[in-house]
Formats: sequence, structure tokens, C-alpha cells
Amino acid sequence: MPTPFELVFGVAVLVGLGVLFVFGRRLAGAFLRYRGTRVVVCPENREMVAVRVDAGHAALSAPQGRPELRLESCTRWPEKRGCGQECLGQIEAAPQACLLRNILGDWYQGKSCAFCGRSFHAIHWHDHAPGLVAPDGKIVAWDAFRAEQVLDVLATHKPVCWDCRVAESFRREHPELVTDRPRPLGPPPSMV
Ligand SMILES: [Zn+2]
Repeated sequence: MPTPFELVFGVAVLVGLGVLFVFGRRLAGAFLRYRGTRVVVCPENREMVAVRVDAGHAALSAPQGRPELRLESCTRWPEKRGCGQECLGQIEAAPQACLLRNILGDWYQGKSCAFCGRSFHAIHWHDHAPGLVAPDGKIVAWDAFRAEQVLDVLATHKPVCWDCRVAESFRREHPELVTDRPRPLGPPPSMV
């Protein structure tokens, strides 16, 4: 039979673990929710800016209640470093919608590649990032743009899948090395 002390100690350990679990979940949840580059409208000049929330600070303040948001960086800094960070209201209202990765992912969804016509499904940004065709027909990768330009780019460019981006870029850079063969019939071998 456990002694009363052992019982109390056991209950205290369980309660402690429970509190740690709840706090840990809130902490990790806030960190994951607020990390990443976001595109918002700067309330001061009404132009798009790319910002990053201090996810570490949001996470550490999350267990006490609502996570406290503050900016870690903004494309208008350092000139506007002392701004009131009013754009945080947009992030608080819709943290996922202004996340750059989500904006781009949503844009590709339901569209088809301007070259091969295949539809986009899940995008693998780390190793098979799709690209774009500029209005002048040039193929460009996303790293050619700044995050705050993204909405303008989406309005003027067409989507290109990773396969075509790599193949077409190579074809344009080394036309002497490329021989065109007719495409095989049948369903495409893989989707982006
Ligand atoms: Zn394609």
C-alpha cells in the first residue's frame, strides 16, 4: 500500500506533467502558427510588405493566454523600425491566410502548367518548386522576387510546373544540346 506521502507525491507529479503538457502544446502550437514569412498591407502607406512575426516570443507568451505578437522583421525596416506594428491586426485576424506559402499554394491549386497542361496538386517547395512564366515569356523561379512583390507577380505571371521549369530553362540556355522528340501518348507519368 502506498503511504499518504507517496500518494500526494504521485498526484503532484501527475498534475505537474499535465500542466507541462498543456503549456508545451500551447507553446509549440503558437510557434508553428506564427513562424514564416507573411504578406500584409502596411497600414501606413497601404502597400504590400513582407513581415515575420517573432514566433519565439509568441510561443513563450502563449501559455499565459493569448500569444503576444510582435514583428521580428519587415521589408520597410530599418527605416520604419519604430512603427506601431499595426499590421499585426491582419495577422491576428487570419494567421494562415497571409502566410506566403499558403498564398502561393492556393494560387497553384486548380491551375495547370502553362507548358504541359498538367494540373498542380500538392507543391513540394523544398525540392520540386514550381516556377512562373513572365509576360515576356521568360521562365522565372520564385527566388527572383521579393516576398512583398508576390501579389503583383501572381496577377501578371502564369504557373509552370517544376519539370517544365527545369526543362524549358535548360532548352533556352542550351538550345544546341536539345533534340525535340514527340511526347509519348497516354497519361502523364507524375504530377507536381
Ligand atoms: Zn509542366
